[in-house]
Amino acid sequence: MMKIKEHCGIFATIGDRSVKYTYEGLKLLQHRGQESAGISYTEGGIKTVKGLGLVEEALNESEVLQIRSKFSIGHVRYSTTGKTTLQEAQPLNNDKLSIAFNGTITNYFEFGNYKTDTEFILDFLSKEIKEGKDIVDAVKHFMDIADGAYSMVILDDKNRVLAVRDPKGFRPLVMGKIDENMVFSSEDSAIKQLGGKIIKDILPGEIVLVNPDGKLLSEKVPSTSFHTCAFEYIYFSRADSKIDGISVYMARIRLGEILARNHPAKADIVVPIPESSRPIAIGYSRESNIPLEEALIRTIVSKRSFIMPTNDKRKSVLEEKFGIVEDAVRDKRIVIIDDSIVRGNTMKRIITLLRNSGAKEIHVRVGSPMIRYPCYMGIDFPNRKELIASDKKEEEISKILGADSIEYLTVKEMKEAIGKESLCSACFTGIYPLKRNYSLQIMENVFNR
Ligand code: SF4
Repeated sequence: MMKIKEHCGIFATIGDRSVKYTYEGLKLLQHRGQESAGISYTEGGIKTVKGLGLVEEALNESEVLQIRSKFSIGHVRYSTTGKTTLQEAQPLNNDKLSIAFNGTITNYFEFGNYKTDTEFILDFLSKEIKEGKDIVDAVKHFMDIADGAYSMVILDDKNRVLAVRDPKGFRPLVMGKIDENMVFSSEDSAIKQLGGKIIKDILPGEIVLVNPDGKLLSEKVPSTSFHTCAFEYIYFSRADSKIDGISVYMARIRLGEILARNHPAKADIVVPIPESSRPIAIGYSRESNIPLEEALIRTIVSKRSFIMPTNDKRKSVLEEKFGIVEDAVRDKRIVIIDDSIVRGNTMKRIITLLRNSGAKEIHVRVGSPMIRYPCYMGIDFPNRKELIASDKKEEEISKILGADSIEYLTVKEMKEAIGKESLCSACFTGIYPLKRNYSLQIMENVFNR
């Protein structure tokens, strides 16, 4: 069974408190991956500690904090290619290089029988370096032949750290400073929470090399345009993050405002699906003047159903996922706000719970367009057959879910709300902003194995 997963988080620190900040940074990026965590550092060569589970389960804090290296990179993971085993947990290293990577190399299967795309990157760069290429030139060559999404941090055996963002800028990557330590992070919120300052977003196609003495070198390969993943704004990133200068929280508020303006519903209350749909529901409530009620309570044992490792586990978790405040919903017409609908089973279950609690009408409003296509740029959506909107219209979906109506944002409305025209929206449109056209059938076979 194909799984739906988020992607990964990366963090790197160069400085006296390197491993401490990398460890703390990973904890603050935990929402980006909970299957494994790891840190690579240099100490007479490249060393890596990693494990399965949350950061605090995967890494022994007291042992990690004793490491005195000034150069480290870290990773929290969901496997968008490959399985979740310790061997495939990142960072992935050999004696020359270590790589922590966020994204998917869409064409990695064309270069050999690699289990994961990270394995391909490590192998490719190592061969280039062995042949005498400088590491920056090796990365540039990689960027030339690789297709897809990649934000990554690389540590080499010469105590150099590189931060790289693909030429379309699918995934975020930020450079900052905490005390005198130079840091790189998937999201700026993690740096700010550690008391640091943001220096800049790494640009699409940019390679930043930090030498052991702290000197920086920045190079940029040609980049046609930004195609940042729309879902970084809608769902994945922390609401207190900014991506390429745009506040994730404010973008979510605007998604709700436009949803209310263009997709109104006659209702008594607006109810968000916690947690990520809250700002969208706030925007909807403000714009429509319909009061917001926190009528759905997420139970402590629940996890985001989007990221559970197997479908069976996902279902069993859904059983205990939400409690309903019956007095808030009884005899009410409800607009329920979700940030996105993938398979629809979470929403179906919630609608049943609301009906059983006496809700009079249930109108679903979704803060993103209909997800009709899989993603091959770092987000593990299921294949087309499993996507509820792949071949259905809104009325049909509404019926399946048991709602009175359902409406989604259009792609144009979503871009207007986020405030950025140049976004990837391939999972809504089927137009993949990649270097080449790939057959959807071939891609489903490669990524669903
Ligand atoms: S296809 Fe969708 S999920 Fe994937 S990168 Fe594009 S917008 Fe993001």
